[in-house]
Amino acid sequence: MRKCPICNKGNLENVSDITLEIEGYIFIVKGERCTSCNEEFPHQEEAQRTISVARRLGVWPESLKLYRHLSKSGGGLVFRIPSDLEKQLKLSEKTEIAISKVGNKIVIEAG
Ligand SMILES: [Zn+2]
Repeated sequence: MRKCPICNKGNLENVSDITLEIEGYIFIVKGERCTSCNEEFPHQEEAQRTISVARRLGVWPESLKLYRHLSKSGGGLVFRIPSDLEKQLKLSEKTEIAISKVGNKIVIEAG
């Protein structure tokens, strides 16, 4: 069993009742849940499926977490913005981005 990367105490259990609420739509997906802090990790393919359903409904899953790897470029780490978000927020290379650290989270705001 995998240890929870959030609290480092609990184990991740397979569950099939993770509830994702996206703009009033409820999606039930499979994934893993921490036995200690109850953090939920939807399976990648389930998350992708949910995203495409949400997209068809015309909503972007605001509350849905996307797990991505950073890539290395020019000695720094690069985070690629999902193209849906790029379109929805009308981002371009001229967009000014504000990055702040909130606890152990990174918040990216497009100006
Ligand atoms: Zn945990």
